[in-house]
Amino acid sequence: MPGQTIAEISVTPVPVHYRKELGRNSRGENMGRERTEWLVRARADGGLEGLTIANRFMRKFTGFDSSEGTVRGLEALLREALLGKRVDEFLEVSDGQVVGVKQAHKQLFWDHGWMSILAFDLLGRDMGVSAVELLGGQVRDWVPAYDTTLYYQDMLNPEKGAAQVAAEAGESHGDGYRQFKMKVGRPGRWMAPQVGMERDVEVVLAVREAVGPDAAIMVDANFGYDGRLDLLEDFIRETLSANIFWLEEMVTADVGDYRTLRRMRDRLGTNALLVCGEVDRDPPSQVFVDLVDNGLIDGYQPDTVSAGFSRWQALEEWLASTDVRSIPHNFGNSNFGARATLVFGAASPTFVSLEDERYLPNVYADDDVSFDNGSYSVPAGPGLGLAVDADVYQRKFAGHEVLIR
Ligand SMILES: [Mg+2]
Repeated sequence: MPGQTIAEISVTPVPVHYRKELGRNSRGENMGRERTEWLVRARADGGLEGLTIANRFMRKFTGFDSSEGTVRGLEALLREALLGKRVDEFLEVSDGQVVGVKQAHKQLFWDHGWMSILAFDLLGRDMGVSAVELLGGQVRDWVPAYDTTLYYQDMLNPEKGAAQVAAEAGESHGDGYRQFKMKVGRPGRWMAPQVGMERDVEVVLAVREAVGPDAAIMVDANFGYDGRLDLLEDFIRETLSANIFWLEEMVTADVGDYRTLRRMRDRLGTNALLVCGEVDRDPPSQVFVDLVDNGLIDGYQPDTVSAGFSRWQALEEWLASTDVRSIPHNFGNSNFGARATLVFGAASPTFVSLEDERYLPNVYADDDVSFDNGSYSVPAGPGLGLAVDADVYQRKFAGHEVLIR
């Protein structure tokens, strides 16, 4: 039935669990073991169902005097934005591919990128094609993923120190992962600066030892080297033998600091990519435009679900004439975010790797996606190819559902 109308939307908080406790990063306390996946299901009158998550909206909570980040605020937003709309009225399609957002919804999807993913899912199901096709078509059969759960596990297990991080990386390698990102930046807050840098080095070298020479290892300082470019230089020099694939957010985005970092990298003789941008909440903000224009970064990282497919399409159009690659941030986006990033990565020519939190399954049905040698296969089903497991949902989560109709 073409041109179905959205007749009902539900919002359900679904818990999602890590396989282990995640420690600190340079900025904050332990991540812990569990997060909430704010599942949004939009059902059309002809039976189509599209999915997204509202995590990025719910995260805006600052108190009950504002409706931002509250269920009542989310309910009002979804009712106004989606209820009664036709599933084919959101996106501009040409030759079977999405080429933009229709005027009436441009601002909505720019502000709430996660809703654009729902629009792709619904439209794909309506047309009977994968969202990979809508995004421009499949450019790779396997999408590489990296294990992003190597936080400050050494501080959770002080008696083991860096060996703990290495042990977890080794276990993950045994589970089939071939790319590993570890948190560094210990000089910033949790350790004395010199000692923190030394621990960062120790962790990187131990992980390299644990995962072997062929795996890719990345580091993310969450700006923990701000104001200490001298220690950052020591860190890069001391880890040269580990052949780091990318250096993420070593310092806050700033043209002067990145110019220094770029020169430092070249002088020390590493090819590590310089990547950043997950903190860009309205991408591309001016500082990132300047970094790209000046050739100072190699990868840009606005969040998959926050920016959404529509904004990422616009960002890729902008980046197409540069050498900057797409490396969407995906942390905190639960199992849905892994699927959305997989679909995006299957269609993006410059995509590098999927940030994988390795959650346990929660609410979705098993499907055709497989994991082998560190990469995921591409889902074949229409839209995102993702479906809620009706039995599990009914049994465990339906009681917490808010229904909008
Ligand atoms: Mg990061």
